[in-house]
Amino acid sequence: MRFILRGKQLIDGTGAAVLPAPLLLIDNTQICAVHSGHETPRAWGHVDRLLDYSHCTLLPGLIDAHVHLIWGGTADPVADLAHESNDLLLLRAADNARLSLFAGVTTVRDCGGRAGTTFVLREAIARGLIPGPRVRACGRPLTPPGGHCHFFHGEADGLTGIRDAIARLADEGADFIKIMATGGGMTATTNPGVASYTAGEIRTAVEDAAARGLTVGAHCHGVEGMWHAVEAGCRTIEHASFMTPERAIVYDPRLGERLVARGTYIVPTLPAGYHPAARLRRQATRTHDEDQGLRARERREAIMATLYRMGARLVYGTDNGVNLTPFGEPVLGLQLMEQLGMTPLQALHSATGLAAEALDVADTLGTLQVGKQADILAVAGDPSQDLRALTHLEMVMLGGRPLASSAPIHWQDAAWHSDTPYEDSTRTAYAQADD
Ligand SMILES: [Zn+2]
Repeated sequence: MRFILRGKQLIDGTGAAVLPAPLLLIDNTQICAVHSGHETPRAWGHVDRLLDYSHCTLLPGLIDAHVHLIWGGTADPVADLAHESNDLLLLRAADNARLSLFAGVTTVRDCGGRAGTTFVLREAIARGLIPGPRVRACGRPLTPPGGHCHFFHGEADGLTGIRDAIARLADEGADFIKIMATGGGMTATTNPGVASYTAGEIRTAVEDAAARGLTVGAHCHGVEGMWHAVEAGCRTIEHASFMTPERAIVYDPRLGERLVARGTYIVPTLPAGYHPAARLRRQATRTHDEDQGLRARERREAIMATLYRMGARLVYGTDNGVNLTPFGEPVLGLQLMEQLGMTPLQALHSATGLAAEALDVADTLGTLQVGKQADILAVAGDPSQDLRALTHLEMVMLGGRPLASSAPIHWQDAAWHSDTPYEDSTRTAYAQADD
């Protein structure tokens, strides 16, 4: 079907200024012309139908570069996993996919699940069996025996183990390779500040993946693991916490400069742990450990703000699914990007055009330009002025197909609805912009 989509204004996802009075000509799944003005260009010829959202801002569907669809964002997803079948994980992943799509996320990059669940989910969505965003899946992340997220069963030991695991995942249809370059907070037996693979092992993973046309995303908290990942040429670094083996957050300026020079995409996953931290901040009294945790979080955010000022490519990713980080609230992650010093348009760019580059899908997704898939949101209000406009979602279009706006009622933690999500005086930018 050929039709015209009309909006009040358009954010194209390239980071460019807002375009007034947009008309988009959509043929089947694809955008085939973009025009600004009230008259339909003659060259478009006869068009049967008009989808009129002239009271709305049009923008690309969001791309979340880091989720775990099989997890429910409960208090302890790892404990849940121990007594849940793969069938149940698949059904939960389907539910999370639906929540994401109806909240405006049209592409997700799944950064790890058990068995082949995320591949099956991707297939079911692609076939139209269930509603959901486009899924880019790594399947099981590579990790050393007993390493971070070993319970996903992606253990790969040494060079041979890594090569075998990548070959298997590529056969199963992995869209990219995820490797755990350090320990992680969700696997208590590991140290997030310590590298879990050698520099040579990470390099082998990147080379082997590249030979199969795949990029590598590296989970990294520790500085040593981050060095391995950036030097090996990993496409993305997830979390990037600048952690020492003693688990202190300490900025390494040489590493920061190297990340910028290499153009490594960094996915800071700021929403992970945001709600518990916000709750702690509201508490009248806190333990020493709780205070330390809050300070570590603030240091990480300050480092990300520094990297952004230096020109680092920060990509939107929520880590939805991990502890108390539920699906269905994409605006929170955008607001947290804004607090690093991004304008709303820059935050949206990190979740559209830039994210598409990081995911290797920029030829078809991420921006509202000719030749791209028509993954489009219509929202009341102006997200280029206030990102919260994205909660007033009127229409989600996936591949040229408008979906009924049956967005689920999704109660949010009140913290992020307030004008000052942080009480912290160093973060006044957002509060002022809102006054
Ligand atoms: Zn993750």
